[in-house]
This record gives sequence, structure tokens and C-alpha cells, in this order.
Amino acid sequence: MDFELTDEQRLLRDTVRDFAEQEVRPVAEELDRTHSFPYEIVRKLGELGLMGIPFPPEHGGGGADTLTYALAIEELARVDSSVCITVAAHTSLGTMPIHLWGTAEQKDEWLPVLCAGERLAAFGLTEPDAGSDAGNTKTRARLDGGEWVIDGAKQFITNSGTEISGCVTITAVTGEANGRREISNLIVANGTPGYEQGEPYRKMGWNASDTRPLSFEGCRVPESNLLGPRGAGLRQFLEILDGGRIGVAAMGVGLARGALEEAIAYARERQAFGGPISRFQAIQAKIADLSAEIEAARLLTHRAALEKDAGRPFTLTAAQAKLKTGRLAVRATEEAVQIHGGYGYIEEYPVCRFYRDAKILTIGEGTDEVQQMVIARELGL
Ligand SMILES: Cc1cc2nc3c(=O)[nH]c(=O)nc-3n(C[C@H](O)[C@H](O)[C@H](O)COP(=O)(O)OP(=O)(O)OC[C@H]3O[C@@H](n4cnc5c(N)ncnc54)[C@H](O)[C@@H]3O)c2cc1C
Repeated sequence: MDFELTDEQRLLRDTVRDFAEQEVRPVAEELDRTHSFPYEIVRKLGELGLMGIPFPPEHGGGGADTLTYALAIEELARVDSSVCITVAAHTSLGTMPIHLWGTAEQKDEWLPVLCAGERLAAFGLTEPDAGSDAGNTKTRARLDGGEWVIDGAKQFITNSGTEISGCVTITAVTGEANGRREISNLIVANGTPGYEQGEPYRKMGWNASDTRPLSFEGCRVPESNLLGPRGAGLRQFLEILDGGRIGVAAMGVGLARGALEEAIAYARERQAFGGPISRFQAIQAKIADLSAEIEAARLLTHRAALEKDAGRPFTLTAAQAKLKTGRLAVRATEEAVQIHGGYGYIEEYPVCRFYRDAKILTIGEGTDEVQQMVIARELGL
């Protein structure tokens, strides 16, 4: 494994790091406290070309590899997870299916506005009765007069209901084939009659990101909104989740790193028993352990990214990285709160927000238990 980043990778990482410091850090606490979607930040990210990092330049994307994308995601999560998940869900979940399986017309219609950050893409897989059991989708779509008529509901869909949400790609049952339910993907544009976004959820964290339930009632979209071959929908979306796990793993690394940095700074500053708490071995041990684990988790995440970029199988490594980093983020943010003592429980300190933001990383894009299932299956069990 090559540990040296290319000039392009370093440049993009540093650009995102500067952006996160200058544009995100000063407003992250307020956006979280007021549950405000970061429109201005998304607009600026779009201008910098950061809303379409891995997509082809001919469609307005950055043409970068998965490792570069992971570096960018880590830098954003280090400062704020709400902004980070907005970018990650838009990129590796919402836009990626259109890039991978869209027709020329679908790509021309959507990729330029999505890569520019003028519109956001959402990924509609989860339903009230279909989370880990994603194949149990109840949403149905039937052909009628050259249009798909969609009825059903989706749950917990990120980026679906902002003022700039452009479309959602969904799974829907489109028929039966060989005695099995046929699941396909469809693109549904925001504003289509019959497609409604519910009120945002009141979440534990990711407060400045947009997550809503969706409903489809007699929602009609053109037949040409089918995304990829009919019946390939579940396989396509599971493939999207495989790649998405690398981004979520990078989020875990970034969040853990942000928490560790806050903890180190605070430990140097906070005085107890006549000196800084950083001189206590109990504090040093926590910091030393976390620093070692973060380095290991980053290597695993980068390995998954490199495998994907090399066209090699990466399902096992991506699931291992997602499992490892989600747990690490939870642990690192908890330890960072602990090192802050009572102040860690107060919202003025970023570690308080980090702690609330971490838990979802063991749930979203496949729970820890699902990662364990994937890993066990890849190991031949
Ligand atoms: C803030 C937020 C944002 C989200 N964004 C999106 C999005 O943009 N798009 C989208 O499609 N989804 C999104 N999700 C949904 C998320 O991916 C699901 O919540 C997750 O996959 C788990 O599904 P579930 O909630 O139905 O839990 P369930 O599947 O009901 O799981 C409940 C528990 O049972 C366990 N379990 C289930 N099956 C097994 C099994 N076979 N073996 C062992 N344990 C099992 C699970 O691990 C979990 O602990 C989001 C969720 C949240 C909270």
C-alpha cells in the first residue's frame, strides 16, 4: 500500500481542511443549535467543486478517486458532521446511482446541477418495514400509459426536503419475475405531484442536516425515469451502500480525530491539582490509545478506498472499516467528553455535539450487526 498522497490528493485535502476551518467551524454550533440547514455552506462547497468530487469532469464533477473523496470527508467530519453527511449522502448515495447507471439523458439532466451543488440528491432505500431488511420494500410502481405510478413510503431520507433538494432515487417493487418480487430504481424529482416530504425528524444529532419521511401517492413519473435495468434495483442499491461505507468510515475517522484534537487542547489548558490535567497518566493513556486507534482506522479506510479505485473487491474491507470507525467515533467522542469533565456536557464545547453526532455512525448505511453479517459472509461463513 502506497502511503504517499499524490499532489492532487494533498491539495484537495488541504482545500477542504481550510474550508472547514474558515467557513464551517465558526457557524457549526449555531447551525446545530438552531437546526438550520447549511445552505450558504453548500453553495460555497458547490462553487469549490466539492459537491461532486468523484464524478467525471464532463458532467461538472471533480474526476477524483475514492481516496481523495475519503480525505475530503474526513476533513469535514473533523469539524462538523451535519455538513459532512449532507455532502456524503448527496455524493455517494444520492448522485452515485445516476452516475453509475443513468442514461445519457438522465446524466445530462441531473449530474451538472448536482455536482454544482445547485440541487441535492437523496437516496430512498429505507422504509418503515425495510431497514436492515432492505429487500422488504413495500413501495410499488406500476406502468400506466408510459408512466410509472408510485405508491408507498420511505423513512429517514437525508437531503430529501431542503429548498434545493432536486431528486430522490428510490427502490420500488415493479412486478414479479420467476416467483420473486422485482425491485427497480426510479428517479423522482422534487415537486412531482404525489411525492411529499414530511416534517424533519427531531434527531439526537446531525441537527443541521435534513432527514425526513417521504410519501408517494399516485405519484406519476415518466417511464424513462427507470434507473438501470428493470429488476436490478436492490442489487444496485446494495452496491451503492458498499461504496458509501468508505465515506461513512472516513466520517468516523474524522469525527474521532476532531474529538481527540479537542481533548488534547482542553487537557493542556485545564488546570487541576496545581497544573494541567494533561500531565496525568490516566488522561495521557486515553489520548494515546485513541491516537493509535485513529491511525489504524484511517489505514483500514484508505485500504478500502484504494481497493475500490484499483477495481478490486472491497466489500470486506469497507464493511470492516465502517464497523471499526463507527465504534471508534462513539468511543472517542465519549472519552473527549470525559476529558472535558462537566464542561463536556455543556453545548458550548464542540465535544458535546460530537458525542451526539457519533452514535448514528453505528446505525446508518448498515448497522454494526449488518456489517458483521457482511464480514462473516465475506469470510465464507
Ligand atoms: C439520521 C438518519 C439518516 C438516514 N439517512 C438515510 C438515507 O438517506 N437513505 C436511506 O435509505 N436510509 C437512511 N437512514 C436509514 C438507516 O440506514 C437505517 O435506519 C438503518 O439501515 C437501520 O434500519 P432500521 O432503522 O429499520 O433498523 P432495523 O433494521 O429495524 O434494525 C433494528 C435492530 O435490529 C438489528 N438487526 C436487524 N436485522 C438483523 C439481523 N439479521 N441480524 C442481527 N441484527 C439485526 C439491527 O442491527 C438493529 O440493531 C437514515 C437513518 C437515520 C437515523
